[in-house]
Amino acid sequence: QYITLLRGARLLLINGFSFNKSGHIGNRGYRYTCSQYKKKCRAFAHISSNDTILKANLEHNHLPTQYARVKDGKYIKLAQYITLLRGTKLLLIDGFSFFKSGFIRNGGLRYTCSAYNNKHCRAFAHISADDVILKANLEHNHIRPKYKQVTDGRYVKVELAYTQYITLEKGIKLLMINGYSFSKNSRIAKGGIRYACSSLLSEKCKAYAHVSANDVLLKCYTEHNHSPIQYVRTSNGKYIKVSSSKKW
Ligand SMILES: [Zn+2]
Ligand SMILES: [Zn+2]
Ligand SMILES: [Zn+2]
Repeated sequence: QYITLLRGARLLLINGFSFNKSGHIGNRGYRYTCSQYKKKCRAFAHISSNDTILKANLEHNHLPTQYARVKDGKYIKLAQYITLLRGTKLLLIDGFSFFKSGFIRNGGLRYTCSAYNNKHCRAFAHISADDVILKANLEHNHIRPKYKQVTDGRYVKVELAYTQYITLEKGIKLLMINGYSFSKNSRIAKGGIRYACSSLLSEKCKAYAHVSANDVLLKCYTEHNHSPIQYVRTSNGKYIKVSSSKKW
């Protein structure tokens, strides 16, 4: 069975799981890969030109994605929800979370990205009374929040690494993440900056962070192979490095 999404993508459905066309298998047909390949699902199917399954791995590492039929016989992904420990219900779309922010016609609800207050993210979604995503802006200016399932199926937000900056006596600005300092390393796309662990040279530490032009932590690797460098704040608000114990 095939379904066509509202935006035109054609998906293959097998046992309720959806697959995207990912290539040819010679001139015999097409290869389809599970739509959740980003979740490292390895399910696939080889479909001949007369629509028979030639070969397939139908073992998925996730639940089927639910689709609902909308106008013109097209389909749209159903909204999913998670409930936080305190009872707040959040909408999840593509790993991003949204909170209820208003009503729309016919009993639907408007949802706003959870990062609206912190990051001024403008992503939103309109959800019909039967949980279909009617309309959405899914362009986010931040990374996906992480939620972890805890007791009775509820979730807690795993806090993103906390970032702040300190300025050294000599005027050098360092990025601090979880007590470790990072120095400006290079420019990345859209005016962002790549920071490398301040112990890159001395310890060959591979930790790094990508920060966008508007100070959002886009991506980071924070496994350090050393203990953090200690800094002390001086009377003028600037910081100086405290000699590391290695030198003693
Ligand atoms: Zn799968
Ligand atoms: Zn957002
Ligand atoms: Zn490091």
